[in-house]
Amino acid sequence: MSAPIYDRVALIGLGLIASSMFWAIKRAGVAAEVTGYARSAETRATAREIGLCDRVCDSAVDAAKDADLIVLCVPVGAMGAVAEEIAPALKNGATVTDVGSVKRHVISAVAPHLPDHVHFVPGHPMAGTEHSGPTSGFAELFDNRWCLLVPVENTPSDPVDRLSRFWRALGANVEVMEPDHHDLVCAVTSHAPHLIAYTMVGVADDLRRVTDSEVVKFSAAGFRDFTRIAASDPTMWRDVFLTNKDATLEILGRFTEELFALQRAIRTGDGDHLFDYFTRTRSIRRGIIEAGQDTDAPDFGRGATQR
Ligand code: NAP
Repeated sequence: MSAPIYDRVALIGLGLIASSMFWAIKRAGVAAEVTGYARSAETRATAREIGLCDRVCDSAVDAAKDADLIVLCVPVGAMGAVAEEIAPALKNGATVTDVGSVKRHVISAVAPHLPDHVHFVPGHPMAGTEHSGPTSGFAELFDNRWCLLVPVENTPSDPVDRLSRFWRALGANVEVMEPDHHDLVCAVTSHAPHLIAYTMVGVADDLRRVTDSEVVKFSAAGFRDFTRIAASDPTMWRDVFLTNKDATLEILGRFTEELFALQRAIRTGDGDHLFDYFTRTRSIRRGIIEAGQDTDAPDFGRGATQR
């Protein structure tokens, strides 16, 4: 247990990421009090029932008032409106951060609403599961995962260092990154792969020749992992693609070119091309395991995965 890093932390939005943060905050003892708010009465009632947050408030303003750290844990498309709502209640010297999967859009949607007396340090914990909602969180979600911090220009180092210490206490490794670079890195590592998984599952569904039972029965061979990814929250992923348009389209363009090259190799029987390509990709997988970002287990260690 560490000493509190922030006296009061406010979690706005109480889904997978916020609930995991709450349990990790409690595990580490890094906040004296955690307040929380979700837009629906149903989520707030569930949170109260399961003891998620020390105090669940009925408005975002109440939750954010007097907080030293305010974490926006709503879908990327909702960040701006939430920031606008809480802005007048923010305490002098408070830090506002977020957990959104896209950074350039969140910065342009949130920053204009924030008063000069607060620090804005956008963030992105790169950890998730396909589950959502207040009951889906767990304290270990961020352990040994990356949390990227993307401070806006002219932010003093103190609030960034403090937020880094906070995320490290929650189990994460922290790196500071520039917003456009963040969005490109995530387009490669997360956003485009999700779109490909969504497509693959959609295609299997379209192919009526493969009956439902066959898809399920034989799905161990790769397809099962796609179905898990394609079960991710539709609102979150709609917002990710609408707000990380340029980087995602850039990567999908590259993907399509490579796919055509592989398609041609298959058609022309160019086994050398296929073999060399798969040898290169295999070494990338080994690199990920060596970096401690996944296990070699047959289920790919999929308790929690990168998002
Ligand atoms: P989640 O489990 O679906 O929870 C979302 C929360 O936001 C819920 O409390 C929901 O309230 C609230 N919310 C939804 N729409 C809202 C709106 N228009 N206005 C105000 N509140 C709204 O989501 P999550 O997975 O925790 O994701 C939250 C953020 O983390 C997203 O920005 C996402 O990009 C980012 N992220 C997610 C993952 C992941 O794998 N899931 C990983 C890294 C980062 P109700 O319950 O009342 O509807």
